[in-house]
Amino acid sequence: MELNYALEQLSLLQKKMYAYNSASSALYLDSVTVAPKDTAEGRGVALGILAGESQKLMTSPEVGELLSFLSEHKSELSHVEQRQVEELQRSYERMSRIPADEYMEYAILTNEASDVWHKAKETSDFALFAPVLEKLVNFNIKFAGYYDSTKAPYDALLDEYERGADMAFLDEFFGTVRERLVPLIKAIGEKPQIDDSFLHRHYPVEAQRKFSDYLMEILQLDRGHCGIGETEHPFTLEFNNKDVRITTNYKEDSLADSMYSVIHEGGHAKYELGIRDDLQYTCLTGGVSMGVHESQSRFYENIIGRSRPFIEAIFPKMQEFFPEQLKDVTAEQMYRAVNKVEPSLIRTEADEMTYSLHVMIRYEIEKQLIDKTLAVKDIPQVWNRLYKEYLGVDVPDDRRGCLQDSHWSGGSFGYFPSYALGSAYGAQMLQNMEKEMDVWTAVGKGDLTGVSAWLGDKVHQYGSLMTPAEIVKNACGQFDPTVYTDYLTKKYTELYHL
Ligand code: ZN
Repeated sequence: MELNYALEQLSLLQKKMYAYNSASSALYLDSVTVAPKDTAEGRGVALGILAGESQKLMTSPEVGELLSFLSEHKSELSHVEQRQVEELQRSYERMSRIPADEYMEYAILTNEASDVWHKAKETSDFALFAPVLEKLVNFNIKFAGYYDSTKAPYDALLDEYERGADMAFLDEFFGTVRERLVPLIKAIGEKPQIDDSFLHRHYPVEAQRKFSDYLMEILQLDRGHCGIGETEHPFTLEFNNKDVRITTNYKEDSLADSMYSVIHEGGHAKYELGIRDDLQYTCLTGGVSMGVHESQSRFYENIIGRSRPFIEAIFPKMQEFFPEQLKDVTAEQMYRAVNKVEPSLIRTEADEMTYSLHVMIRYEIEKQLIDKTLAVKDIPQVWNRLYKEYLGVDVPDDRRGCLQDSHWSGGSFGYFPSYALGSAYGAQMLQNMEKEMDVWTAVGKGDLTGVSAWLGDKVHQYGSLMTPAEIVKNACGQFDPTVYTDYLTKKYTELYHL
């Protein structure tokens, strides 16, 4: 094989994968936005074929030969090409180790599990979901061995979402979180509560849509390259660095819900839009990991979006969009209201302070499930005990308890910790950013140019060219969870006069 020919084939292979992914994403986007409700069947057929074809392509002997040829000529490749070969080789080996029949069986199971979970959640019936969940757990334990048989199964699964993160690292991280934040949350609970009732006045959807447009402008999201839609659960979907879509969900009795969804998803979008052009249509585009992605969305949502300077900057505009609702409210009251801490049952509605504890509970349960020290049937009991212990709340039913998240029904075990890691990475990015520039004067004027440029330079541009650990090192330096807990302690000590 000629090297030039091999490189052409490498590029073609990645473009084909991009095409399959784009087609699947477009079908998915259609299904959750504009598709009529009884149209899932035909899309299912198409999605099944697309998944099968891309699996076939990525595990074909020709691709195996191509990648091993290029690995042998590694020294003649550019750095970007070397990284492409490494990443593709990794997924080639990983996918080739999963027997095709097991892969199919698992795909069918997750499809079925999603239905069962929806029904179980609706009726708050964990016993209905338990048998399917047990199968999913067993599949994941088996797959963990295919991913990396040298690791403990849960470590191998964690590595899928945040390469390099393992139980030793996370035990230490969550240990710090537990030790510092649990007492802080208790102390906050003993203080007079912040009044956020004005956030729940009537906010018509039409006015909220205009407010979203304004927020996207503040975030400097180019509407020619970033669309906004409406779905039940907000998300970000990227095709390439010139085409990213975010969604939000409007609730007329809540101003903050959609506001922070737009800022959060906007943070994800900024990451995807900021990736270098030369990484497009290759396996190196796309945010590097779930944890780093969440670090960006949470940076915009919490560190910037829930800061006093940012609220002061946008508050006059908020009053223009909602003159009646906010006429008797000050910027300071708004700042305090969007930072109200209230231990609650639902992770996705949790405040900045208690959020990581929701994640920690899921981490502790997953860890025991995958190493088989916890039986599936005992999940509700452990879940409810941990919610009482860490957050002081009583779980009234499984719908608002262990059945609330869709992750397990989709076969995702090891995904949750990324949410908490992202918050911690973000706090450390802020610390470094503050050393290099005056962050808050500009933010106080509603100007996020400097913040975006810093994150673009340290994180966004690289896509997946570096590993998650390298990106974190580049933007945060040595990872230290106390920077995160100190950030929260300082902010909430002032807010709640602790
Ligand atoms: Zn997110």
